[in-house]
Amino acid sequence: MAAVNVVGGGVGGMVCALLLARSGHEVRLFERLPRLGGKLAEHRRDGFTFSIGPSLLTLPDLFRDLGVERDLVQPRELCRYRFADGSRLTAHRDPDRMAAEVERLAPGQGVRWRAFHAWARDCFEVSSRAFFAGPPNRPPVRPSLRDLRAVAPGRTLAGLARRFFQDARLRQYVNRYATYAGSDPYRAPAALGCIPAVEHDGGGWYVPGGLPSLAGDLAALLAGAGVEVRLDTPVAGILADGQRVKGVRLAGGERVGGDVVVANVDAAQLYGRLLPDRRRLRRIAALGPSSSAFLLLAGVDGRTDDLPHHSVLFSADYPAEFADVFRRRTPPRDPTVYVGCASADDPTQAPAGAESWTMLVNVPARDPSRWPISPEAYRDLVLERLAERGHDLAGRLRFVDILTPADLRDRYRSWGGAIYGAAYAGPLAPFRRPGNRGPRRGLYLVGGSVHPGGGLPLVAMGGRIVADLVNHDFPAGKGGAP
Ligand SMILES: Cc1cc2nc3c(=O)[nH]c(=O)nc-3n(C[C@H](O)[C@H](O)[C@H](O)COP(=O)(O)OP(=O)(O)OC[C@H]3O[C@@H](n4cnc5c(N)ncnc54)[C@H](O)[C@@H]3O)c2cc1C
Repeated sequence: MAAVNVVGGGVGGMVCALLLARSGHEVRLFERLPRLGGKLAEHRRDGFTFSIGPSLLTLPDLFRDLGVERDLVQPRELCRYRFADGSRLTAHRDPDRMAAEVERLAPGQGVRWRAFHAWARDCFEVSSRAFFAGPPNRPPVRPSLRDLRAVAPGRTLAGLARRFFQDARLRQYVNRYATYAGSDPYRAPAALGCIPAVEHDGGGWYVPGGLPSLAGDLAALLAGAGVEVRLDTPVAGILADGQRVKGVRLAGGERVGGDVVVANVDAAQLYGRLLPDRRRLRRIAALGPSSSAFLLLAGVDGRTDDLPHHSVLFSADYPAEFADVFRRRTPPRDPTVYVGCASADDPTQAPAGAESWTMLVNVPARDPSRWPISPEAYRDLVLERLAERGHDLAGRLRFVDILTPADLRDRYRSWGGAIYGAAYAGPLAPFRRPGNRGPRRGLYLVGGSVHPGGGLPLVAMGGRIVADLVNHDFPAGKGGAP
């Protein structure tokens, strides 16, 4: 049995802590905020509730298998897309309905969508078997040449979209999946194109009461498994000699010993502050940060006809939008806007006769004081774009609260407010993220900034990967570090 200190109570840290406690280790978890969940968080005001992190849950069995018991609901549509020319595409979960919808939008392309979906399925099957199920350098199944071909190495997501679709709108729809990993579709690997298979085959789910309720469920499981959780307790450093970790130093000065440290903090914070390592930090910096989010949280009076839970209002020029975010590092002048309206499916999220709108724009992970536009002026620009695309909220707004990359950075101590640590850029990007084993014996990394990546399902998978590594290195019942 090892004494394990987990730093950070995001989903990756909680899943890992839970599995390690269940394997018989003595586990403590330190979280600097007064609550668990990390980015799985909400904002409340005047009877409105907004998710300020995940709004869509995929692969819910990963959580059910841990013991989370919840009735989930599935919004009527996966997502509704509106393109700059005013045309629409409703993404239905059922592949037959989806292919028919694509055919309606762009005659002749329905059959191409079926081919794309078959490719995405294959890519996801290979990725989950050979890449997501173990650490990057020790996959449980050695990928075959065919497996490697299935993930289209050397192709970008935009290249994949061009291969399957002639219609520019359908290419934009495929390219959007890069944003699930905070990345630029013109540089991200084609493998991100497996995400639609996850949505169409496994569904896109909502947790009644809001997705952050999942954090409460995991917290209850941690308590049941005997994990000692210390909230409001920032870790200021990792204690280590040249060989192995010895424990953690808390911000108040207290030292807590242990054999294992699982860092669920952003890898840039780990190597920048907690256990300084210039070489590893430079390697992360070379990847460049993922995008951050500019969030508008609006209490809206009245009910909008036929408003789905998830909609995406696309910009007219996607390459220019990503050039703004990733090359010019400025908020896009013509942004794509995601609108999440949880109250469309869950009346607890807004007062009667009103709606809670979470609007998200992908922006660079950079302090807004260095943007050429103030957050307030950018809020007005986003609301104007929204009005041009059919959602004029003038006269209906009770309030609009703003969250910027600086807010995300300060809340989670993430790299410039980046959602997923580094971006995925280049064909080898998934293998260039920091690995799950750190440079000292007993140090492990979990969470969205490391392998296998961000998003609730992947960080949960990462929690399992790290628990397996710790169990391998420190077998329970064998009395601590070998
Ligand atoms: C706006 C937004 C929208 C998103 N949408 C989706 C979505 O729809 N679907 C989806 O699946 N995913 C989505 N995600 C991504 C998902 O939320 C994250 O990938 C996931 O929650 C990250 O989990 P994590 O384990 O990396 O931990 P994090 O959530 O990053 O948590 C890390 C924790 O560590 C704590 N911490 C940091 N430093 C210290 C320290 N020194 N000492 C102690 N504690 C510390 C932080 O306070 C935090 O609680 C979204 C994220 C954002 C921000």
